[in-house]
Amino acid sequence: MNGHANGATNGDVDSSDWSPSSWRTKPIKQPVLYENEAKVDQSRLKLRHLPPIVTPTEIWKLRRALAEVAQGKAFLLQGGDCAELFDYCNDNAIESKIKLLLQMSLVLIWGGNKPVVRIARMAGQYAKPRSSPVEMVDGKQVPSFRGDILNGYQPDQRDIDPQRLVQAYFHSAATLNYVRAQLASGIADLHNPMDWNLGHVADPGLLEKYSTIVNSIRESLRFMRTVGADTAGQLETVDLFTSHEALLLEYEEALTRKLRHPSNRTTTTTKTSPAAPKVSPLTGGALLNPALTPTTSPSNSGYYNTSAHFLWVGDRTRQPDHAHIEYLRGIENPLGIKVGPTTTTPDLLQLLDLVNPRKEIGKVTLITRYGAGKVDELLPAHIAAVRESGHTVVWQCDPMHGNTRSTSSGIKTRSFDAVFAELAAALRIHKECGSFLGGVHLELTGDAVTECTGGSEGWRDEDLGLRYETFCDPRLNEKQALELAFLVADSLRA
Ligand code: PEP
Ligand code: MN
Repeated sequence: MNGHANGATNGDVDSSDWSPSSWRTKPIKQPVLYENEAKVDQSRLKLRHLPPIVTPTEIWKLRRALAEVAQGKAFLLQGGDCAELFDYCNDNAIESKIKLLLQMSLVLIWGGNKPVVRIARMAGQYAKPRSSPVEMVDGKQVPSFRGDILNGYQPDQRDIDPQRLVQAYFHSAATLNYVRAQLASGIADLHNPMDWNLGHVADPGLLEKYSTIVNSIRESLRFMRTVGADTAGQLETVDLFTSHEALLLEYEEALTRKLRHPSNRTTTTTKTSPAAPKVSPLTGGALLNPALTPTTSPSNSGYYNTSAHFLWVGDRTRQPDHAHIEYLRGIENPLGIKVGPTTTTPDLLQLLDLVNPRKEIGKVTLITRYGAGKVDELLPAHIAAVRESGHTVVWQCDPMHGNTRSTSSGIKTRSFDAVFAELAAALRIHKECGSFLGGVHLELTGDAVTECTGGSEGWRDEDLGLRYETFCDPRLNEKQALELAFLVADSLRA
Protein backbone atom coordinates (compact mmCIF):
# COMPACT_ATOMS: atom_id res chain seq x y z
CA MET A 1 0.00 0.00 0.00
CA ASN A 2 1.42 3.37 -0.84
CA GLY A 3 0.44 6.71 0.56
CA HIS A 4 -1.97 7.69 -2.20
CA ALA A 5 -5.22 6.05 -1.27
CA ASN A 6 -6.65 9.28 0.03
CA GLY A 7 -4.47 11.93 -1.55
CA ALA A 8 -5.67 11.18 -5.03
CA THR A 9 -5.14 13.60 -7.84
CA ASN A 10 -7.43 12.61 -10.57
CA GLY A 11 -10.16 15.07 -11.33
CA ASP A 12 -7.68 17.67 -10.06
CA VAL A 13 -8.41 16.96 -6.39
CA ASP A 14 -5.00 17.13 -4.74
CA SER A 15 -2.17 17.03 -7.19
CA SER A 16 0.54 18.04 -4.73
CA ASP A 17 2.01 14.55 -4.60
CA TRP A 18 1.51 13.62 -8.23
CA SER A 19 3.31 14.82 -11.33
CA PRO A 20 3.79 13.32 -14.79
CA SER A 21 7.14 12.04 -13.50
CA SER A 22 6.18 10.86 -9.99
CA TRP A 23 6.06 7.27 -11.31
CA ARG A 24 9.86 7.43 -11.30
CA THR A 25 9.86 7.15 -7.48
CA LYS A 26 8.08 3.78 -7.58
CA PRO A 27 9.25 0.27 -8.36
CA ILE A 28 8.56 -0.61 -11.99
CA LYS A 29 7.74 -3.81 -13.88
CA GLN A 30 8.93 -4.31 -17.46
CA PRO A 31 11.74 -1.77 -16.94
CA VAL A 32 13.84 -0.55 -19.86
CA LEU A 33 17.60 -0.35 -19.45
CA TYR A 34 18.80 2.29 -21.88
CA GLU A 35 22.49 2.20 -22.57
CA ASN A 36 22.66 5.81 -23.57
CA GLU A 37 20.70 8.08 -21.21
CA ALA A 38 21.77 11.21 -23.10
CA LYS A 39 19.98 9.92 -26.20
CA VAL A 40 16.86 9.20 -24.16
CA ASP A 41 16.96 12.77 -22.88
CA GLN A 42 17.22 14.09 -26.43
CA SER A 43 14.15 12.09 -27.43
CA ARG A 44 12.27 13.22 -24.36
CA LEU A 45 13.04 16.86 -25.06
CA LYS A 46 11.90 16.50 -28.63
CA LEU A 47 8.67 14.78 -27.60
CA ARG A 48 7.90 17.43 -25.03
CA HIS A 49 8.17 20.08 -27.71
CA LEU A 50 5.86 18.41 -30.22
CA PRO A 51 2.13 19.21 -30.35
CA PRO A 52 -0.56 16.98 -28.79
CA ILE A 53 -1.79 14.14 -30.98
CA VAL A 54 -5.25 14.25 -29.38
CA THR A 55 -7.00 17.05 -27.48
CA PRO A 56 -8.91 17.44 -24.19
CA THR A 57 -12.12 18.12 -26.13
CA GLU A 58 -11.84 14.76 -27.88
CA ILE A 59 -10.84 13.02 -24.66
CA TRP A 60 -13.94 14.35 -22.92
CA LYS A 61 -16.12 13.34 -25.81
CA LEU A 62 -14.94 9.79 -25.22
CA ARG A 63 -15.36 10.11 -21.45
CA ARG A 64 -18.97 11.13 -21.92
CA ALA A 65 -19.53 8.27 -24.33
CA LEU A 66 -18.01 5.80 -21.88
CA ALA A 67 -20.24 7.12 -19.11
CA GLU A 68 -23.13 6.15 -21.36
CA VAL A 69 -21.62 2.69 -21.82
CA ALA A 70 -21.17 2.29 -18.05
CA GLN A 71 -24.88 3.05 -17.62
CA GLY A 72 -25.98 0.55 -20.24
CA LYS A 73 -26.93 3.12 -22.88
CA ALA A 74 -24.20 2.30 -25.39
CA PHE A 75 -21.84 -0.57 -26.21
CA LEU A 76 -18.04 -0.38 -26.56
CA LEU A 77 -16.08 -1.98 -29.39
CA GLN A 78 -12.29 -1.81 -29.05
CA GLY A 79 -9.94 -3.62 -31.38
CA GLY A 80 -6.72 -3.68 -33.32
CA ASP A 81 -3.34 -5.33 -33.50
CA CYS A 82 -1.56 -6.85 -30.53
CA ALA A 83 1.67 -5.14 -31.56
CA GLU A 84 1.29 -2.32 -34.05
CA LEU A 85 4.37 -1.97 -36.23
CA PHE A 86 5.61 1.28 -37.73
CA ASP A 87 5.20 -0.56 -41.00
CA TYR A 88 1.41 -0.71 -40.50
CA CYS A 89 1.38 3.05 -40.97
CA ASN A 90 0.22 2.49 -44.50
CA ASP A 91 -3.00 3.42 -46.30
CA ASN A 92 -4.27 -0.12 -46.98
CA ALA A 93 -3.60 -1.42 -43.47
CA ILE A 94 -5.27 1.61 -41.88
CA GLU A 95 -8.27 1.61 -44.20
CA SER A 96 -8.97 -2.09 -43.79
CA LYS A 97 -8.99 -1.75 -40.01
CA ILE A 98 -11.31 1.27 -40.06
CA LYS A 99 -13.70 -0.54 -42.39
CA LEU A 100 -13.69 -3.68 -40.28
CA LEU A 101 -14.36 -1.78 -37.04
CA LEU A 102 -17.14 0.12 -38.76
CA GLN A 103 -18.82 -3.03 -40.09
CA MET A 104 -18.50 -4.77 -36.72
CA SER A 105 -20.00 -1.76 -35.01
CA LEU A 106 -23.03 -1.76 -37.32
CA VAL A 107 -23.61 -5.42 -36.52
CA LEU A 108 -23.33 -4.68 -32.78
CA ILE A 109 -25.70 -1.71 -33.06
CA TRP A 110 -28.19 -4.06 -34.69
CA GLY A 111 -27.63 -6.61 -31.92
CA GLY A 112 -27.72 -4.36 -28.89
CA ASN A 113 -30.11 -1.79 -30.30
CA LYS A 114 -27.96 0.98 -28.87
CA PRO A 115 -25.09 3.20 -30.09
CA VAL A 116 -21.61 1.72 -30.32
CA VAL A 117 -18.51 3.59 -29.15
CA ARG A 118 -15.49 2.68 -31.28
CA ILE A 119 -11.91 2.67 -30.00
CA ALA A 120 -9.06 1.42 -32.18
CA ARG A 121 -5.94 -0.19 -30.69
CA MET A 122 -4.06 1.88 -33.18
CA ALA A 123 -1.91 4.95 -33.76
CA GLY A 124 0.33 4.21 -30.77
CA GLN A 125 0.12 0.52 -29.77
CA TYR A 126 3.88 0.17 -30.19
CA ALA A 127 5.13 -1.09 -26.79
CA LYS A 128 4.80 -4.71 -25.67
CA PRO A 129 5.25 -6.32 -22.25
CA ARG A 130 7.21 -9.56 -22.44
CA SER A 131 7.34 -12.56 -20.13
CA SER A 132 11.08 -12.92 -20.65
CA PRO A 133 13.70 -10.26 -21.51
CA VAL A 134 15.44 -12.70 -23.87
CA GLU A 135 14.42 -15.38 -26.34
CA MET A 136 16.05 -17.96 -28.61
CA VAL A 137 16.08 -17.22 -32.34
CA ASP A 138 17.73 -19.81 -34.62
CA GLY A 139 19.61 -21.28 -31.68
CA LYS A 140 20.92 -17.89 -30.53
CA GLN A 141 19.82 -15.98 -27.47
CA VAL A 142 18.71 -12.42 -28.31
CA PRO A 143 16.82 -9.69 -26.41
CA SER A 144 13.04 -10.08 -26.81
CA PHE A 145 11.16 -7.85 -29.25
CA ARG A 146 9.58 -5.17 -27.08
CA GLY A 147 7.63 -3.34 -29.75
CA ASP A 148 8.73 -0.90 -32.45
CA ILE A 149 8.91 1.94 -29.91
CA LEU A 150 12.01 0.30 -28.36
CA ASN A 151 13.62 -2.21 -30.73
CA GLY A 152 13.07 -3.98 -34.04
CA TYR A 153 11.62 -7.43 -34.68
CA GLN A 154 14.55 -8.57 -36.81
CA PRO A 155 17.01 -10.43 -34.56
CA ASP A 156 19.83 -8.03 -35.50
CA GLN A 157 17.74 -5.02 -34.44
CA ARG A 158 17.01 -6.04 -30.88
CA ASP A 159 19.17 -3.38 -29.21
CA ILE A 160 17.09 -0.65 -27.55
CA ASP A 161 17.19 2.53 -29.65
CA PRO A 162 15.93 5.69 -27.86
CA GLN A 163 15.36 7.43 -31.18
CA ARG A 164 12.47 5.06 -31.72
CA LEU A 165 10.47 7.00 -29.11
CA VAL A 166 10.36 9.95 -31.48
CA GLN A 167 9.66 7.71 -34.46
CA ALA A 168 6.70 6.33 -32.51
CA TYR A 169 5.26 9.83 -32.19
CA PHE A 170 5.49 10.47 -35.93
CA HIS A 171 4.03 7.11 -36.88
CA SER A 172 1.22 7.63 -34.40
CA ALA A 173 0.51 11.12 -35.74
CA ALA A 174 0.65 9.99 -39.37
CA THR A 175 -1.68 7.07 -38.67
CA LEU A 176 -4.22 9.23 -36.87
CA ASN A 177 -3.92 11.87 -39.57
CA TYR A 178 -4.92 9.30 -42.18
CA VAL A 179 -7.75 8.02 -39.99
CA ARG A 180 -9.07 11.56 -39.60
CA ALA A 181 -8.66 12.28 -43.31
CA GLN A 182 -10.43 9.08 -44.33
CA LEU A 183 -13.31 9.68 -41.95
CA ALA A 184 -13.65 13.22 -43.26
CA SER A 185 -13.60 11.88 -46.83
CA GLY A 186 -16.44 9.43 -46.38
CA ILE A 187 -14.84 6.06 -45.56
CA ALA A 188 -17.57 5.61 -42.94
CA ASP A 189 -20.32 7.19 -45.02
CA LEU A 190 -23.34 4.94 -44.62
CA HIS A 191 -24.79 6.20 -47.90
CA ASN A 192 -22.22 4.03 -49.64
CA PRO A 193 -22.84 0.32 -50.16
CA MET A 194 -20.70 -2.02 -48.10
CA ASP A 195 -19.11 -5.28 -49.07
CA TRP A 196 -20.43 -7.90 -46.64
CA ASN A 197 -18.95 -10.87 -48.52
CA LEU A 198 -20.24 -13.98 -46.73
CA GLY A 199 -19.05 -16.44 -49.39
CA HIS A 200 -16.80 -18.29 -46.94
CA VAL A 201 -19.65 -19.34 -44.65
CA ALA A 202 -20.32 -22.95 -45.63
CA ASP A 203 -22.68 -23.88 -42.78
CA PRO A 204 -26.20 -23.15 -44.14
CA GLY A 205 -27.59 -22.34 -40.66
CA LEU A 206 -24.87 -19.79 -39.96
CA LEU A 207 -25.11 -18.33 -43.46
CA GLU A 208 -28.81 -17.77 -42.97
CA LYS A 209 -28.28 -16.19 -39.56
CA TYR A 210 -25.58 -13.81 -40.83
CA SER A 211 -27.49 -12.96 -44.00
CA THR A 212 -30.55 -12.06 -41.96
CA ILE A 213 -28.46 -9.60 -39.95
CA VAL A 214 -26.84 -8.07 -43.05
CA ASN A 215 -30.18 -7.73 -44.82
CA SER A 216 -31.70 -6.11 -41.77
CA ILE A 217 -28.84 -3.58 -41.56
CA ARG A 218 -29.14 -2.84 -45.30
CA GLU A 219 -32.89 -2.35 -44.99
CA SER A 220 -32.51 -0.01 -42.02
CA LEU A 221 -29.95 2.12 -43.80
CA ARG A 222 -32.09 2.26 -46.94
CA PHE A 223 -35.09 3.29 -44.89
CA MET A 224 -33.20 6.05 -43.10
CA ARG A 225 -31.91 7.44 -46.38
CA THR A 226 -35.35 7.26 -47.97
CA VAL A 227 -37.11 9.13 -45.20
CA GLY A 228 -34.31 11.67 -45.06
CA ALA A 229 -33.33 10.76 -41.51
CA ASP A 230 -29.89 12.18 -42.14
CA THR A 231 -30.66 15.85 -41.77
CA ALA A 232 -27.74 16.36 -39.36
CA GLY A 233 -25.32 14.46 -41.57
CA GLN A 234 -25.08 11.68 -38.99
CA LEU A 235 -24.80 8.97 -41.61
CA GLU A 236 -21.77 10.57 -43.20
CA THR A 237 -19.12 9.80 -40.63
CA VAL A 238 -18.50 8.32 -37.19
CA ASP A 239 -16.22 8.89 -34.22
CA LEU A 240 -13.22 6.63 -33.90
CA PHE A 241 -11.03 7.03 -30.83
CA THR A 242 -7.50 5.70 -30.32
CA SER A 243 -5.93 3.68 -27.52
CA HIS A 244 -2.82 1.84 -26.49
CA GLU A 245 -1.26 0.20 -23.47
CA ALA A 246 0.44 2.81 -21.28
CA LEU A 247 3.57 0.73 -20.91
CA LEU A 248 6.52 2.89 -21.87
CA LEU A 249 6.21 5.63 -19.30
CA GLU A 250 9.06 7.77 -20.66
CA TYR A 251 6.92 8.25 -23.76
CA GLU A 252 3.64 8.75 -21.92
CA GLU A 253 5.22 11.26 -19.54
CA ALA A 254 6.68 13.32 -22.37
CA LEU A 255 3.25 13.61 -24.00
CA THR A 256 1.43 14.45 -20.78
CA ARG A 257 0.51 18.11 -20.70
CA LYS A 258 -1.24 20.42 -18.29
CA LEU A 259 -4.07 21.79 -20.42
CA ARG A 260 -7.28 23.71 -20.01
CA HIS A 261 -10.36 21.57 -19.57
CA PRO A 262 -12.88 21.97 -22.35
CA SER A 263 -15.88 24.03 -21.31
CA ASN A 264 -18.29 21.12 -21.51
CA ARG A 265 -16.41 18.95 -19.02
CA THR A 266 -18.91 17.67 -16.50
CA THR A 267 -18.67 14.35 -14.78
CA THR A 268 -21.07 12.24 -12.84
CA THR A 269 -19.69 10.85 -9.63
CA THR A 270 -20.84 9.02 -6.58
CA LYS A 271 -19.82 11.88 -4.33
CA THR A 272 -22.89 13.48 -2.79
CA SER A 273 -23.08 17.21 -3.03
CA PRO A 274 -26.22 18.79 -1.52
CA ALA A 275 -26.10 21.75 -3.87
CA ALA A 276 -25.98 19.77 -7.07
CA PRO A 277 -29.20 18.89 -8.90
CA LYS A 278 -30.00 15.19 -8.99
CA VAL A 279 -30.15 15.10 -12.75
CA SER A 280 -27.57 13.52 -15.00
CA PRO A 281 -25.73 16.01 -17.19
CA LEU A 282 -25.17 13.15 -19.59
CA THR A 283 -28.74 12.34 -20.26
CA GLY A 284 -30.80 15.09 -18.75
CA GLY A 285 -32.69 12.33 -16.99
CA ALA A 286 -32.73 10.90 -13.50
CA LEU A 287 -29.57 9.11 -12.48
CA LEU A 288 -29.59 5.34 -12.17
CA ASN A 289 -28.28 5.48 -8.65
CA PRO A 290 -29.94 8.17 -6.58
CA ALA A 291 -26.75 8.59 -4.56
CA LEU A 292 -24.96 9.89 -7.66
CA THR A 293 -24.63 13.58 -8.30
CA PRO A 294 -22.93 15.50 -11.06
CA THR A 295 -19.96 17.54 -10.03
CA THR A 296 -17.69 19.95 -11.74
CA SER A 297 -14.27 20.61 -10.43
CA PRO A 298 -13.20 24.11 -9.42
CA SER A 299 -9.89 23.95 -11.27
CA ASN A 300 -9.86 24.85 -14.95
CA SER A 301 -6.98 22.67 -16.07
CA GLY A 302 -5.67 19.15 -15.64
CA TYR A 303 -3.09 16.69 -16.90
CA TYR A 304 -3.92 15.05 -20.19
CA ASN A 305 -2.08 12.25 -21.91
CA THR A 306 -2.12 13.66 -25.44
CA SER A 307 -0.77 10.52 -27.16
CA ALA A 308 -4.15 8.70 -27.27
CA HIS A 309 -7.72 9.15 -26.12
CA PHE A 310 -7.76 6.00 -23.98
CA LEU A 311 -4.88 4.30 -22.15
CA TRP A 312 -4.91 0.96 -20.41
CA VAL A 313 -2.64 -0.80 -17.96
CA GLY A 314 -1.67 -4.36 -18.79
CA ASP A 315 -1.99 -7.48 -16.69
CA ARG A 316 1.74 -7.49 -15.94
CA THR A 317 2.06 -3.88 -14.77
CA ARG A 318 -1.06 -3.20 -12.69
CA GLN A 319 0.44 -3.53 -9.16
CA PRO A 320 -1.25 -0.85 -7.02
CA ASP A 321 2.01 0.41 -5.49
CA HIS A 322 4.08 0.42 -8.69
CA ALA A 323 5.01 2.95 -11.33
CA HIS A 324 2.34 2.35 -13.99
CA ILE A 325 -0.60 2.89 -11.64
CA GLU A 326 1.16 5.89 -10.14
CA TYR A 327 1.36 7.43 -13.61
CA LEU A 328 -2.21 6.60 -14.64
CA ARG A 329 -3.88 7.90 -11.49
CA GLY A 330 -3.00 11.49 -12.38
CA ILE A 331 -4.37 11.85 -15.89
CA GLU A 332 -7.82 12.91 -17.11
CA ASN A 333 -8.08 10.33 -19.91
CA PRO A 334 -10.44 7.40 -19.56
CA LEU A 335 -8.49 4.35 -18.41
CA GLY A 336 -8.60 0.61 -18.88
CA ILE A 337 -7.37 -1.95 -16.36
CA LYS A 338 -6.75 -5.53 -17.48
CA VAL A 339 -8.26 -7.95 -14.97
CA GLY A 340 -7.02 -11.53 -15.12
CA PRO A 341 -6.95 -14.78 -13.16
CA THR A 342 -4.30 -13.39 -10.80
CA THR A 343 -6.16 -10.17 -9.98
CA THR A 344 -7.29 -10.37 -6.36
CA THR A 345 -10.49 -8.66 -5.32
CA PRO A 346 -8.72 -6.41 -2.76
CA ASP A 347 -6.24 -5.33 -5.44
CA LEU A 348 -9.04 -4.63 -7.87
CA LEU A 349 -10.87 -2.40 -5.39
CA GLN A 350 -7.67 -0.64 -4.40
CA LEU A 351 -6.89 0.02 -8.05
CA LEU A 352 -10.30 1.55 -8.63
CA ASP A 353 -9.94 3.84 -5.62
CA LEU A 354 -6.45 4.85 -6.69
CA VAL A 355 -7.20 5.78 -10.28
CA ASN A 356 -10.75 7.01 -9.72
CA PRO A 357 -11.12 8.30 -6.15
CA ARG A 358 -14.18 10.41 -7.03
CA LYS A 359 -15.89 7.37 -8.52
CA GLU A 360 -16.61 9.10 -11.79
CA ILE A 361 -18.92 6.98 -13.90
CA GLY A 362 -17.23 5.31 -16.84
CA LYS A 363 -13.80 6.77 -16.08
CA VAL A 364 -12.52 3.19 -15.74
CA THR A 365 -13.06 0.26 -18.04
CA LEU A 366 -12.35 -3.13 -16.47
CA ILE A 367 -11.06 -5.33 -19.27
CA THR A 368 -11.59 -8.90 -18.05
CA ARG A 369 -9.46 -11.63 -19.60
CA TYR A 370 -9.68 -14.76 -17.49
CA GLY A 371 -9.90 -17.46 -20.16
CA ALA A 372 -12.94 -19.46 -21.21
CA GLY A 373 -12.21 -22.10 -18.56
CA LYS A 374 -11.96 -19.66 -15.67
CA VAL A 375 -14.48 -16.92 -16.33
CA ASP A 376 -17.34 -18.70 -14.52
CA GLU A 377 -15.25 -19.13 -11.42
CA LEU A 378 -13.74 -15.62 -11.26
CA LEU A 379 -16.05 -13.01 -12.80
CA PRO A 380 -19.05 -13.18 -10.40
CA ALA A 381 -17.00 -12.23 -7.32
CA HIS A 382 -15.41 -9.30 -9.16
CA ILE A 383 -18.81 -8.04 -10.30
CA ALA A 384 -20.19 -8.26 -6.76
CA ALA A 385 -17.21 -6.53 -5.17
CA VAL A 386 -17.20 -3.65 -7.67
CA ARG A 387 -20.93 -3.12 -7.25
CA GLU A 388 -20.50 -3.08 -3.47
CA SER A 389 -17.67 -0.51 -3.78
CA GLY A 390 -19.93 2.05 -5.44
CA HIS A 391 -17.77 2.33 -8.57
CA THR A 392 -19.68 2.41 -11.86
CA VAL A 393 -17.32 0.94 -14.44
CA VAL A 394 -17.49 -0.22 -18.02
CA TRP A 395 -17.25 -4.01 -17.99
CA GLN A 396 -15.46 -5.08 -21.11
CA CYS A 397 -14.49 -8.63 -22.08
CA ASP A 398 -11.12 -9.33 -23.72
CA PRO A 399 -11.63 -12.94 -24.80
CA MET A 400 -8.18 -13.11 -26.43
CA HIS A 401 -5.50 -13.02 -23.74
CA GLY A 402 -6.80 -15.80 -21.50
CA ASN A 403 -7.21 -18.17 -24.44
CA THR A 404 -3.77 -18.29 -26.02
CA ARG A 405 -2.34 -21.75 -26.65
CA SER A 406 0.55 -23.34 -28.52
CA THR A 407 0.09 -25.91 -31.27
CA SER A 408 2.11 -29.13 -31.19
CA SER A 409 4.62 -27.43 -33.48
CA GLY A 410 4.93 -24.49 -31.09
CA ILE A 411 2.85 -21.85 -32.91
CA LYS A 412 1.01 -19.40 -30.66
CA THR A 413 -2.68 -19.39 -31.55
CA ARG A 414 -6.21 -18.99 -30.22
CA SER A 415 -9.27 -20.91 -31.22
CA PHE A 416 -12.30 -18.98 -32.39
CA ASP A 417 -14.53 -21.25 -30.30
CA ALA A 418 -12.64 -20.50 -27.07
CA VAL A 419 -12.73 -16.77 -27.84
CA PHE A 420 -16.48 -16.84 -28.41
CA ALA A 421 -16.98 -19.13 -25.41
CA GLU A 422 -15.42 -16.59 -23.03
CA LEU A 423 -17.44 -13.77 -24.57
CA ALA A 424 -20.71 -15.71 -24.39
CA ALA A 425 -19.95 -16.66 -20.79
CA ALA A 426 -19.19 -13.04 -19.86
CA LEU A 427 -22.51 -11.93 -21.39
CA ARG A 428 -24.40 -14.63 -19.53
CA ILE A 429 -22.63 -14.16 -16.17
CA HIS A 430 -23.19 -10.40 -16.16
CA LYS A 431 -26.88 -11.00 -16.79
CA GLU A 432 -27.08 -13.63 -14.06
CA CYS A 433 -25.41 -11.21 -11.63
CA GLY A 434 -27.76 -8.35 -12.46
CA SER A 435 -24.99 -6.55 -14.35
CA PHE A 436 -24.37 -6.16 -18.08
CA LEU A 437 -21.42 -6.56 -20.38
CA GLY A 438 -20.54 -3.11 -21.73
CA GLY A 439 -18.11 -4.00 -24.47
CA VAL A 440 -15.54 -6.21 -26.16
CA HIS A 441 -11.78 -5.83 -26.59
CA LEU A 442 -10.31 -7.78 -29.49
CA GLU A 443 -7.03 -8.36 -31.27
CA LEU A 444 -7.86 -8.25 -34.93
CA THR A 445 -6.64 -7.21 -38.34
CA GLY A 446 -8.40 -6.29 -41.55
CA ASP A 447 -6.10 -8.67 -43.43
CA ALA A 448 -6.73 -12.30 -44.42
CA VAL A 449 -4.21 -13.80 -42.01
CA THR A 450 -4.31 -17.30 -40.52
CA GLU A 451 -3.33 -16.80 -36.90
CA CYS A 452 -6.39 -18.01 -34.97
CA THR A 453 -7.98 -21.40 -35.68
CA GLY A 454 -11.67 -21.98 -36.39
CA GLY A 455 -14.36 -19.66 -37.64
CA SER A 456 -16.33 -20.29 -40.81
CA GLU A 457 -13.20 -20.73 -42.90
CA GLY A 458 -12.40 -23.67 -40.62
CA TRP A 459 -8.69 -23.00 -40.12
CA ARG A 460 -6.89 -25.87 -38.37
CA ASP A 461 -3.55 -25.95 -36.55
CA GLU A 462 -1.94 -27.28 -39.76
CA ASP A 463 -3.15 -24.25 -41.75
CA LEU A 464 -1.64 -21.56 -39.56
CA GLY A 465 1.56 -21.39 -41.63
CA LEU A 466 -0.35 -20.10 -44.68
CA ARG A 467 -0.42 -16.47 -43.57
CA TYR A 468 0.88 -16.21 -40.05
CA GLU A 469 2.06 -12.60 -39.91
CA THR A 470 1.70 -11.34 -36.36
CA PHE A 471 4.78 -10.09 -34.52
CA CYS A 472 3.19 -10.76 -31.15
CA ASP A 473 -0.18 -12.38 -30.33
CA PRO A 474 -2.45 -14.09 -32.89
CA ARG A 475 -5.23 -11.86 -34.25
CA LEU A 476 -8.69 -12.61 -35.58
CA ASN A 477 -8.72 -12.05 -39.32
CA GLU A 478 -11.35 -9.91 -41.02
CA LYS A 479 -13.83 -12.76 -41.48
CA GLN A 480 -13.37 -14.17 -37.99
CA ALA A 481 -13.76 -10.73 -36.41
CA LEU A 482 -16.95 -10.01 -38.32
CA GLU A 483 -18.28 -13.46 -37.51
CA LEU A 484 -17.61 -12.84 -33.82
CA ALA A 485 -19.59 -9.60 -34.09
CA PHE A 486 -22.50 -11.54 -35.68
CA LEU A 487 -22.46 -14.06 -32.85
CA VAL A 488 -22.25 -11.39 -30.14
CA ALA A 489 -25.05 -9.44 -31.81
CA ASP A 490 -27.16 -12.57 -31.89
CA SER A 491 -26.51 -13.15 -28.17
CA LEU A 492 -27.30 -9.51 -27.34
CA ARG A 493 -30.68 -9.92 -29.01
CA ALA A 494 -31.45 -13.20 -27.25
C1 PEP B 1 -2.38 -7.01 -24.76
O1 PEP B 1 -3.48 -6.45 -24.66
O2 PEP B 1 -1.76 -7.10 -25.84
C2 PEP B 1 -1.78 -7.62 -23.56
C3 PEP B 1 -0.48 -7.80 -23.44
O3 PEP B 1 -2.71 -8.00 -22.68
P1 PEP B 1 -2.59 -8.42 -21.15
O4 PEP B 1 -1.91 -7.30 -20.45
O5 PEP B 1 -4.03 -8.58 -20.74
O6 PEP B 1 -1.84 -9.72 -21.09
MN1 MN C 1 -1.75 -9.14 -27.08
